[in-house]
Amino acid sequence: IELIHGTAGRPVTIPQLGFGTYKITPHDTETAVRAAIELGYRHIDTAQMYGNEAQVGKAIAGCGLPRDQLFITSKLNNTAHEPARARESFDATLRALGLEVLDLFLVHWPMALSGDLIGTWATMIEFLDSGRVRAIGVSNHQREHLETIIKATGVTPAVNQIEIHPYLTQEPLRTAHRQLGIVTQAWSPLGRGHLLRDPVIESVARATGHTSAQVVLRWHLQRGDVVFPKSVHPERIAENSQLFDFELDDDQLARISALNRDHRFGSHPDEVQ
Ligand code: NAD
Repeated sequence: IELIHGTAGRPVTIPQLGFGTYKITPHDTETAVRAAIELGYRHIDTAQMYGNEAQVGKAIAGCGLPRDQLFITSKLNNTAHEPARARESFDATLRALGLEVLDLFLVHWPMALSGDLIGTWATMIEFLDSGRVRAIGVSNHQREHLETIIKATGVTPAVNQIEIHPYLTQEPLRTAHRQLGIVTQAWSPLGRGHLLRDPVIESVARATGHTSAQVVLRWHLQRGDVVFPKSVHPERIAENSQLFDFELDDDQLARISALNRDHRFGSHPDEVQ
C-alpha cells in the first residue's frame, strides 16, 4: 500500500502484513523478530513505550537483508509531547534501532486533553522534513483530532493506527480515513486472541480449511487495512503469515463484519492522558 509522503520518484510503500512487538519482552524480542523476518515478514511495528527498540535493532542488524527490504515503524512516547523531548526521543529511537532513516514514525496517543496536539504534529513534520523518516502518521486519533492537525499544518498523517478487529470494526473512522487519504492500520487485529473461539469465526475457518487467526487476518487484508499480529511462537508467527493462498467470499466477509459490538480490548483514546 502506498503512503502519501513519498514523492513521485521515491514512493513509500508499506507491506500490508507486518509483525507486532507490543508486550514482547526485551529478552524475547530479537529471537521473535528474527523468526518473523526469516518467515518472510518485512514490516516490524515497535514503539518507544514497548522498551524493545534496541532488540528490534539487533534483529534488523543481524538478519542479513538490505535495509531497503525492511519497513520499520516506531512511535513517540506519551511523555514526549513537547518539542525538545520529542526531538531527543526521536534521536534515541534511531540510535536504539541502529537506523539512519526510519520508515514510519507515529504519535502513539493524541494526549488531546493534557498535551499540545498541534505542537506535537508540527514537531513530527520537522522530522519528516529532515529526511530522517520517510513517512509520519498518528495512532489512536479520532476524527476531530485528525481534522485539527491537518487544518493547522496542512500535512495529512500517512496512517492512523487504531484498534480494529471483528468486535470493533470502526466503520465511521475508516470512512473518515478514506475521505482524508489516510491509510488504516489495525492494532490488536486478533483482538489479543480473544475472538478466535467465536463460533462464526470458527465456522468460516472450518469452511475454508484455515485457522481462526488466518480467517480474521484475511478479513482485515480484504478490507484493505494494514495488520501486524503479534506472537512469540514460531509456529504461530508462521501461521499468521500464511494468508495469501485463499480468499473469503462476500458472504463470509459480511458475517464476520456483523460480529461488531464496538467492544475494545485496549484503552479508549480519551482515557490515555
Ligand atoms: P493481537 O491481536 O496481535 O493478538 C496477539 C495475541 O493473540 C498473542 O499474544 C496470542 O495470545 C494470540 N495469538 C497470536 N497469533 C495466534 C495464533 N495464530 N493462534 C492463536 N492465538 C494467537 O494483539 P496485540 O499484540 O495487542 O496487537 C498487535 C500489534 O499491534 C502489537 O504487537 C503492537 O505492535 C500494535 N499495537 C499498537 C497499539 C497502539 O496503541 N498503537 C496498541 C496495541 C497494539
